[in-house]
Parts: sequence; structure tokens; C-alpha cells
Amino acid sequence: MKTRQIGSMEVQKVVELDGMALPARLVFPGANSDIVRQGRKMFDARFIAPDSDSLLWSFHSYVVRSRGRNILIDTCHGNDKNRPEPVAYAHMMNTDYLGNLGRAGLRPEDIDMVLCTHLHIDHVGWNTRLSDGKWVPTFPNAKYLMTRADYERFEHISPDDQEGAIGYYSFHDSVLPVVAAGQAELIETDHVIERELDHGLWMEGAPGHTPGSVIIHAQDGHGHALFAGDVIHHPLQMAWPSLHVAGEYDTGLGMRTRRRMFESCADTDTLLLPAHFPSPTAARVISTAEGFGLTFEED
Ligand SMILES: [Zn+2]
Repeated sequence: MKTRQIGSMEVQKVVELDGMALPARLVFPGANSDIVRQGRKMFDARFIAPDSDSLLWSFHSYVVRSRGRNILIDTCHGNDKNRPEPVAYAHMMNTDYLGNLGRAGLRPEDIDMVLCTHLHIDHVGWNTRLSDGKWVPTFPNAKYLMTRADYERFEHISPDDQEGAIGYYSFHDSVLPVVAAGQAELIETDHVIERELDHGLWMEGAPGHTPGSVIIHAQDGHGHALFAGDVIHHPLQMAWPSLHVAGEYDTGLGMRTRRRMFESCADTDTLLLPAHFPSPTAARVISTAEGFGLTFEED
């Protein structure tokens, strides 16, 4: 993704994987072939595979440069992690994520702050890396912010169901080592990171996908962007807002949060920056006769 300006703030995408095909019904239990067929007419082959019932996903972070600091939002899956079923798709990943960070001009030691929108396997993975057989913080100089509500949810969860599995393993190898290193800070879901006249970076509670999920606002001058985390996973949910991923904490609450986010930014200049839209990723929300739609910004 090209560097985007949000007023004086700069935003870049750092990709772990782009264009991963996942069967629609595996990720969205409510997505039947009919929905996928109709969705194919609305969204092109970058979002829905042309010849199978698969949806295309991206896993990426965002870097925000603000007030001389480098802030990393969400950290994907990470390398070398043991991930049994039902999350075996992420088992022992080996991607060039840190190379992509380098191509964005940043070394791990340059990251000042890591923000996790929630504590799922695909949002905390690069919090740590394997060094001499131990998990150590990937970003040695960063403070890692995580919501207390998610921490308390995953602290005692068992891996025996879908919700547990997408939080359990990563809690142990990608969250606890950061806490042990003294680099974690547990925050409330309305935490403010920066607030000045006409400039701000802050969180807003967005419960449903997990109890402590947040969306992150970046605003400077007339620019405003919304890092949506997993409030929305795929453009298909614009047309079918009740579609939700397997393992969501509270699906009804998640749908209401999704609708509230669409309403808040429909027909405005707010740039929506979701965590899993393949390229082109950034979009603006528009209202339509049926509800809401998206206009994409090319990468
Ligand atoms: Zn996710």
C-alpha cells in the first residue's frame, strides 16, 4: 500500500499474507453458495475466487507515524508457532513479514508502540519471535497496549472450542512473554494515545468479536481514518451484515457494533482500514438503497 496521509500522520500497510483463499463456509458458517454467487457480482476476483466458494483474505499490520513515533497496529500470526486444529492453517508459518517491515523503512527496534485491536491468533503473532528456543518480544523498545477485557477473557480460556482455540495458543506464546518482559500495558477500551487540538489517536470499544475489541481512530486536521480490526472481516458483510466468523464471542453484539461503525462513517471522508481486506484494502463507506456499500482506494 502506498503511504497515506491522514493530515500530518502517515499510514503504511505491512503485509504478512495477501490473497489467502479460505472456503467461505469455513470462515462464515452462514455463507452458502448462493450468497457467494451473489457476492461475486458485487466484488471482483480480488475478493472472491472466480471458480470456487472461497473468499480471499489478507493478513497485515498498519504502521502509523505520528509525532515522531512509529506505532504498529495488530501483528498478524507470526512465524514458527505451534497451531493445532482448528487453527492449523497458521501452523509453523514462515513469512517475510519482518522483511516487509524493513521495506517500509523500519527495523523492529524502531517500533515505539504496538496496539492490538484484540487478542486473537492473527493479531498478536508477531508480538514475539523465537530466539534460542524462547519467545521474546519482537519489538524490544515498544510498549504493547492490550485491552484488559480481552486479557481477562483469554487468561482462563480453554482451547477446546473455536473461540478458545483462536485465543488460547497465542495468549501463551505471543501475549504472556510480552507481559513477562515488562512491556505490556493493560488498558480500557476507550484509551486515548494522543490528544491535542485538532489531532488525536484513540480507541473506541467495539465489543462482539471479542469482549475487549477496539477500533482505533486517527485524526489530524481534516483527515480521519478508522482502523477497524475485526469489526468487519470481508466486504461480503456489507451486503450480509449478519455474517460472522466462527468462534465470535457474541455474534448479536458483533453485528450491532458493525452496523454502528458503518453508520458512523457512511458518506464521510473517513478512511476505513480493515484488518483482512485483500488489496485494495482501504475503503470509504457509502449508504445505498439496501444499506451500505464500499468504494475502494487503490493501493
Ligand atoms: Zn482477525
